[in-house]
Amino acid sequence: MHILIAEDEQDLNRILKRKLEEEHYVVDSCFDGKSALEYLLLAEYDGAILDIMLPEMNGFDILKEIRKNGVQTPVMFLTALSDTKDIVRGLDEGADDYMVKPFEFSELLARLRVLLRKHNTINENIYRCGDLEVDVNKQLVKRGGKVIEVSPKEFSVLLYLIRNQNIVVSRQQIESNVWNIDHDISSNVVDVYIRFLRRKIDEGFEDKIIQTIRGVGYVLKCEK
Ligand code: CA
Repeated sequence: MHILIAEDEQDLNRILKRKLEEEHYVVDSCFDGKSALEYLLLAEYDGAILDIMLPEMNGFDILKEIRKNGVQTPVMFLTALSDTKDIVRGLDEGADDYMVKPFEFSELLARLRVLLRKHNTINENIYRCGDLEVDVNKQLVKRGGKVIEVSPKEFSVLLYLIRNQNIVVSRQQIESNVWNIDHDISSNVVDVYIRFLRRKIDEGFEDKIIQTIRGVGYVLKCEK
C-alpha cells in the first residue's frame, strides 16, 4: 500500500511517516502543496493524507487538480481548523474523510483502513489465488496451508500482484506502487523481488503461479 503524506509541520510529518511505515505502508512525504500535486500525478498511490493549509497550494486545490486529471486516489484531509465550514467544504469537494488536529494516531490508522477498503484499494482481508493465500491484516502468506515467511517488501509486491490477479502488470506499475519515490529507479529491483518470491512460492510446486510475460511484465495466474 502506497501512501502520500503532505504536511508542512515537520515533526508531525515525520511521525506520521514513521508510524505508517511501522504498519508496512510504503510512504512518500512532502511539505508543500506543489510537491504533493506532482507526486500524486506521478506515482500510483492507494491513499493520500493531505493537510489543508499547506505552503504553495492548499489541500482543496490539490484535490481539485488531481480529480481534474483523473486521479481517483482516496484523500483524507488533515485540518487544524475544527471549523465546520472547513470540513463541509472538504467533503463537498470530494475528500473521503478528514481528521481534526490534534488526533490520536490509532484513530487515523483505523480510518485509513476504512478509506482503503471503501475504495476497493483493499477490498478483502484475505486474497486467494489457487492454493495461495495472502492475509492482509496478519501480513501472512500461505501456500497449500503452509506458512511462507516473506519480508515486508516481498509481501508488498505479492499483495500488488494478487490484487491484480490475472491482469498483466508492468515492472513500472509494481515499482510505482511498492517503492517510494526516492528510490533508485535504474535498478532491476522488481525482477530481484520476483525471483525471491518465486523461490518461496513456486519452487517445489507443479503449478507456477507467478508468470513472466516477456517484454511486458508479470501476472499472477489464478484459477477462477
Ligand atoms: Ca499546515
